[in-house]
Amino acid sequence: MKPDFDLIIVGGSFAGLVCARTAAMRGLKVAVIDRKRDPGAQVRTTGILVKEAADVLDLPAGVSRKVRGVRIYAPSGRHRDLESDGYYFLATDTPALLRWLALDASLAGARLLYGARWQGACYEPGGLRLRGLDISTRYLIGADGARSQVARSFGLGPNERVLMGSEIHVPSLPGLDRGHLHCFFGRDQAPGYIGWAVPGVGCTQIGIATKSDRRPDLGPVLRQIEALTGLSDLDLTERRGGLIPVGGPVRPFASDRVMLIGDAAGLVSPLTGGGIHNAFRYGRRAAQVVSDYLQDRGTEPSQVLAREIPSYALKSLMRRTMDIGAPDWMIEAMLGTPVMGALAQSIFFRPRTITLPSMTPAFRHAPAARALGATGLI
Ligand SMILES: Cc1cc2nc3c(=O)[nH]c(=O)nc-3n(C[C@H](O)[C@H](O)[C@H](O)COP(=O)(O)OP(=O)(O)OC[C@H]3O[C@@H](n4cnc5c(N)ncnc54)[C@H](O)[C@@H]3O)c2cc1C
Repeated sequence: MKPDFDLIIVGGSFAGLVCARTAAMRGLKVAVIDRKRDPGAQVRTTGILVKEAADVLDLPAGVSRKVRGVRIYAPSGRHRDLESDGYYFLATDTPALLRWLALDASLAGARLLYGARWQGACYEPGGLRLRGLDISTRYLIGADGARSQVARSFGLGPNERVLMGSEIHVPSLPGLDRGHLHCFFGRDQAPGYIGWAVPGVGCTQIGIATKSDRRPDLGPVLRQIEALTGLSDLDLTERRGGLIPVGGPVRPFASDRVMLIGDAAGLVSPLTGGGIHNAFRYGRRAAQVVSDYLQDRGTEPSQVLAREIPSYALKSLMRRTMDIGAPDWMIEAMLGTPVMGALAQSIFFRPRTITLPSMTPAFRHAPAARALGATGLI
């Protein structure tokens, strides 16, 4: 019997939704399953888009705001500003962004099944049948995040090295410069990574990511923000947190008719922890190679992607150096030097390649997307 779908994607977040959109646009019969009830629920990320990702999303006003520079702080509170002509980051209203991506995929023809959890699958002639949901597919993509259950079900590689991220949202902080992403370094502030304060959309996002053997403690970063703004006892409006894979691509990332993308595949920069642009990039690319395979007898999809995904060898090496952690006196001494400036500039502003076509009209229907997301209809 013919499978119900050409492609089922587990995980309706950045990678899964962009993948679903492209696959549906190419004529595949696509379904996305996600355990969340609403694409914008349970957001785990800060949601900053680098310019390369932002260039290709025609976001409606109100969902994002531009932040042009990065301000890096030594433990003493001394800082240094970095900018690059023509470059910016986008702080996003991430739940709204995810709802637009979902609407866009759905307008392209993908069927979105939120509130549906992955429970495993078994092979049958012509494809796989998903347990519990009783739907079948010719090809399966796992876009279900850092602790992928799809990976586990098929014996694919786990993300062995992760950072733990924790973030709170407070009402926009007066006194915190809104033109910069504020990044805090130091052994207390953020062992192994950084603390941050992002002047976001209608709020300030304050977070920290640390090595997984350390529980993220926002205390030192909050104290530094208090010193900067004079504000304490901040009203907390939201809390987010999750794992950030930093060990590079998982191996293996595919098996017969199954492939991982996004965080599930470890496609996150080991150095910056940024994964959204890769989720877009390889989400889309996975859809292309799966459609080539299913429609035009193209090369097995994972073989094509294996040649394209980055190894992150240099960034992994730099991550291990960060894991050791520079002593505070060294950060203080380095802050103003040209070497530190050049290094930080290359980390934050180095161009990242990405090509994604302009989004379909979903982005012109902002209120509709918000309403649909809120009702759980998409
Ligand atoms: C605290 C924090 C801050 C971050 N900040 C940034 C940032 O500012 N910029 C950036 O580029 N990157 C950032 N990252 C990384 C970025 O969030 C990820 O790279 C990105 O979310 C990966 O997208 P994804 O679609 O692969 O996976 P995810 O966004 O993790 O989505 C996985 C989806 O799968 C679903 N799912 C999981 N298990 C199941 C199951 N069993 N059944 C059904 N559905 C399932 C989940 O509900 C979810 O919708 C941050 C990460 C963290 C933790």
